[in-house]
Amino acid sequence: MSATNQGTEPGSTTAPAPAHPPKPKRTKLPPIDPGFHYHPLRKAIHVICVIVFFLLPLSNLMRIDIPRQRFYFFGYELWISEFSILFFSMMFMMFVVAAMAILWGRVYCGYFCPQMIFSEASLSLERWLQRTVDTYVNWNAPKRLLLAKALFYLIAGVASTILAFVFISYFVEPKDLLHRLLSFDIKTAGGIAGAATTLLTLLDFLFLRQRFCTTVCPYGYLQGMLTDDHTLLVHYRDPDHECIECKKCIRVCHMDIDIRNSPYQIECVGCGECIDACNDILAKLGKQGLIHYVWGENGERLGTGDRTWFQKIGLRDSKRVVVLLVLMFYAAGLFTALSMRHAVLVQIAPVRATLYRLDKDGVVYNTFRLKAANRSSHQQTVVLQIDGLPGTHFVSFENAGVLNPGQTLEHDFEIAAPPAAALPPGVNHFRLVSRAGNEHDSFDETFITPFQDTR
Ligand code: SF4
Ligand code: SF4
Repeated sequence: MSATNQGTEPGSTTAPAPAHPPKPKRTKLPPIDPGFHYHPLRKAIHVICVIVFFLLPLSNLMRIDIPRQRFYFFGYELWISEFSILFFSMMFMMFVVAAMAILWGRVYCGYFCPQMIFSEASLSLERWLQRTVDTYVNWNAPKRLLLAKALFYLIAGVASTILAFVFISYFVEPKDLLHRLLSFDIKTAGGIAGAATTLLTLLDFLFLRQRFCTTVCPYGYLQGMLTDDHTLLVHYRDPDHECIECKKCIRVCHMDIDIRNSPYQIECVGCGECIDACNDILAKLGKQGLIHYVWGENGERLGTGDRTWFQKIGLRDSKRVVVLLVLMFYAAGLFTALSMRHAVLVQIAPVRATLYRLDKDGVVYNTFRLKAANRSSHQQTVVLQIDGLPGTHFVSFENAGVLNPGQTLEHDFEIAAPPAAALPPGVNHFRLVSRAGNEHDSFDETFITPFQDTR
């Protein structure tokens, strides 16, 4: 029996049923607009981040100067001893990064992290050099490969030196560092740190790159702990089995993963390159892409859903509101500490090794110690004034001290009360007022005279 007669009754006049039902005719959909692309946005943010990375230390906007023990913070020259400001600024920055992780997942890694930016740049440069050499150089393949590699190593060496210089500038005065670099200093601590950072940066560019994110960087692991059901992640959803297995989403992924396996892969930095790739491919077939940014595995896609503005930016539960409140607390603490800060720190305390000194003319002397620190970037004059102790005057001190930027002054001085001042015996309360520029401070002090009038 032939295959075509299978299942047909002998003598039957009915036409034999086909072995396979005809396939439904596919209608080719016209191409559609692939929609928003994350790649140009990411590259624009990378450029801004690189500019900020260079500007912050070189213009003293944000820098911890270890040799001078200073913290430069947006126009303020803070001393390491100014604990409250350092504490609030560190906590604020730490919470910014943590809040970003809770709200927007690995967005920091994919969009802002210097390691990711320079790793991608190094990879792109290497590929571009190889393509350019292949196009323009008429040598055999091994020689072209060698030339492209040599050029890449040369450029990477120069780039590593520049980047290491900028990185070390966060901790050492850039001028001083340049001097060390130009004199090939590899003897002092600064010179050794510069040389070691250059070497590590070069090795990172050449070999480590994005492997750093999955091996060394603690932020990726921390992210796993901070993520919850409302965190933004990159997710593949294909309920209608429309994936055409083109694998472009895998080819464009710098982390070499297949996002279709899980949205929770530690390697995924949430860059969105696979979203662009899938959108582009399926748009040509008139279909929507299958990979999206979503709020948690079961949440809606970014930018969709009937939500309030604060839910649209990720504030979706009380935990996130608490995180925002903590962030605002540290921002307010930092703002308050900065606004209460005096550019010239003045401290005055009595020296009570002896309560008073009495000379043969009956003049009573009390000794005080002035400590002043100029924390500004220009010269300051500290002026003292006695308030509430009539008839007294400063001795061995012209009531003013001039301080250069960064200078600290420590000076003992006396206040004299001649008999004509007629101070009552015992403890006399008064105030010392200090002025430096527009700032002033007052210190409650006591002036002690003999308890029995021996004058
Ligand atoms: S790019 Fe889209 S269609 Fe292509 S393999 Fe990836 S998920 Fe499937
Ligand atoms: S899976 Fe997609 S979002 Fe994740 S790292 Fe790869 S390209 Fe970026």
